[in-house]
Amino acid sequence: MKITGDFHTHTIYSSGFLIKGMHAKSTIEENVEAAYKKGLQTIVISEHGPSHYLYGVRRKNLKLIREEVNRLNEIYSPKGLKVLMGLESNLVGLNGQIDVDENIIEMIDVLLMGFHYGSTPKSIREGMNLYVNSQIAKLSGYKLDEITEVITESYINAIRNFPIDIITHPGAKVNLDILKLAQEAEKRDVALEINSRHGNLNLEDLKLLKNANVKFYINSDAHSSKEVGNFELGLEIFLSSGLDKNRVVNAI
Ligand SMILES: [Zn+2]
Ligand SMILES: [Zn+2]
Repeated sequence: MKITGDFHTHTIYSSGFLIKGMHAKSTIEENVEAAYKKGLQTIVISEHGPSHYLYGVRRKNLKLIREEVNRLNEIYSPKGLKVLMGLESNLVGLNGQIDVDENIIEMIDVLLMGFHYGSTPKSIREGMNLYVNSQIAKLSGYKLDEITEVITESYINAIRNFPIDIITHPGAKVNLDILKLAQEAEKRDVALEINSRHGNLNLEDLKLLKNANVKFYINSDAHSSKEVGNFELGLEIFLSSGLDKNRVVNAI
């Protein structure tokens, strides 16, 4: 089993209002060159969505990223590496609101969506549920089922309302009803990620999804060019699950 593309990598543009390079270390070109050296066929540059105050991409940089991705794609595509622009948007509302608008959706090639603490919520009430109660529930078990249900519904609303391609690291930061989410994802042709940085989906999740038909991506979630194409943990989890490799979109 071989992974042919890395659909989730960050660059210095995932820096919010901080100094470039504080969160993710490498330039777009460095990530692309690393992918080329590893013999990948696809690389996606997927910065954090703009509502994250520490790591989010600044809106004014989106155009620069698009131009750089296009420039590099012209150079690397003839050599067998497709370079695409993605965005790892943030879930910011219980109704499934994420931090992209029409302009962003039109600009990018791949829309990813994940849950991150530190994004600006739609309202204080939603922020409480998304970022405070969910964390208390995860740590202490207090109202865990109730909160898990609410957050899972938010994810489901997001994939109903936005053209999301990949849900990143499901279950890494917040508890989810993975089976319920997978059933809706399958209907909408949304894939779930096995993230090699976080180890989610994990083995337990994959076993639950044996009889579901949802597809997967195994990605690195690289925060430096050295990590591009690092699929070790994701591959290990997937191979232990015994699931058919045809379930992984970016594998041969
Ligand atoms: Zn993430
Ligand atoms: Zn990421």
